[in-house]
Amino acid sequence: MDRLLHDARVAPLIGRWGRLLVKHALGDLIAERRTPSGGGTARFDVDHLVQRAGNLLAARYVAPLEAVLNLTGTLLHTNLGRASLPVEAAAAMLAASGPVLLEMDPATGARGGRESHVAGLLEALTGAEAATVVNNTAAALLLVLNEFARDREVPVSRGELIEIGGSFRLPELMQRAGCRLLEVGTTNRTHPRDYERAVGTSTALILKVHPSNYEIRGFTTAVPTRELANLAHARGLPLVVDLGSGSLVDLTRHGLPAEAHPREVLADGADLVLFSGDKLLGGPQMGVIVGRRDLVRAINANPLKRALRVDKARLAAMAAVLRLYADEPHIAAATIPLLRQLAVPLDELQRRGEALRAQVGDHFAPWFAATVVTARTQIGSGAMPGAEVDSHALAFAAQPPLVARHVEALAAALRRGLPPVIGRVQGGQLRLDLRACEDDALLARCLLDVNVSALS
Ligand SMILES: *Cc1c(COP(=O)(O)O)cnc(C)c1O
Repeated sequence: MDRLLHDARVAPLIGRWGRLLVKHALGDLIAERRTPSGGGTARFDVDHLVQRAGNLLAARYVAPLEAVLNLTGTLLHTNLGRASLPVEAAAAMLAASGPVLLEMDPATGARGGRESHVAGLLEALTGAEAATVVNNTAAALLLVLNEFARDREVPVSRGELIEIGGSFRLPELMQRAGCRLLEVGTTNRTHPRDYERAVGTSTALILKVHPSNYEIRGFTTAVPTRELANLAHARGLPLVVDLGSGSLVDLTRHGLPAEAHPREVLADGADLVLFSGDKLLGGPQMGVIVGRRDLVRAINANPLKRALRVDKARLAAMAAVLRLYADEPHIAAATIPLLRQLAVPLDELQRRGEALRAQVGDHFAPWFAATVVTARTQIGSGAMPGAEVDSHALAFAAQPPLVARHVEALAAALRRGLPPVIGRVQGGQLRLDLRACEDDALLARCLLDVNVSALS
């Protein structure tokens, strides 16, 4: 085994997976060989062994957070880590890798606030009195409900009882936070009088949730934030709004629907607004809480806050992203990948698609026909459901005698590449949406790396 681990042919495996996992995989394959049905103790073919160990490792583990090309047509893909961070954020994380003034006031040397690095920027950007952050928005909601509504009631419109992918279900989260959900109104229509009827002596607050990953259309009514805030305040209750995505800029110029910004929701009277760091904001995973100073102070003092707090690397990344928004508007548009990708002109995508097709088309012939097709890019991660922006995709269609199964095989081969290229199979074609592609030369290389005849 020792000799094997020092063999040059094993080195790439160790480079990718680390020595310990490679040693386990090789050990298992050798042990299997030694069983009566395993082929005995004849000399091992190292090349063969390396290949089998590579397959075994890939089946057992996901390579540790390898960068991939997300060409799925979903810009914020939860399974691919949502928002891509700007280089400024990556640099900030690196800069924060050693000791930093995380919880120390440099003036006095005394303990300072961990969130102060981002809180000031969040307040300035949203107009809030105060701000704090936790692990994600699910955590923010858990914390807010636990602090203000434990053993009490919280009315929520039936049209807003959301489930988000990955088992985030509002009613279950509310239960774990220790509060009782009071369902108000109906799925499609909720009126002020429905809330009025629900509010009683044990009501803690009113919660409004942005239905971020679905739309209710047709005969619908929801109570606007301002009206709901007035209703809550008349009874001495705070209004908490879970905004979900929480964009800080206007995205309508990209043909996307107008979304209420945290600043507007606060101006409409919400006492606390919650939103995610890694959706439309384009930052790291985080749950942002902005609003009234007294409420934020109480949240920061809740013991659960300690369990849900954010580490220095993500705080550094968030501060860097917020800084980009705090500079000239065009700076965020040019540096935050999501905003940059939304702004790429359609004709540029088409031109780049044609150039790629010219480069790789022959490599896939005669097995697959490569074409440039129009596509629709969606935002994803429960932001702006149903909203899409026009795009172009490089598409691969199987040519006879190849069939649909071979398209799946091509998609899988690209997913196994270095780096993995993640596309989407749709209408019998493999489509690589180019809107999120920021390195066409790398994509071309990945495509030319595919052993096409091995797929057929
Ligand atoms: C996405 C979303 C959440 C969960 O946010 P995370 O940051 O992923 O925890 C909560 N509420 C709404 C309305 C959302 O859209």
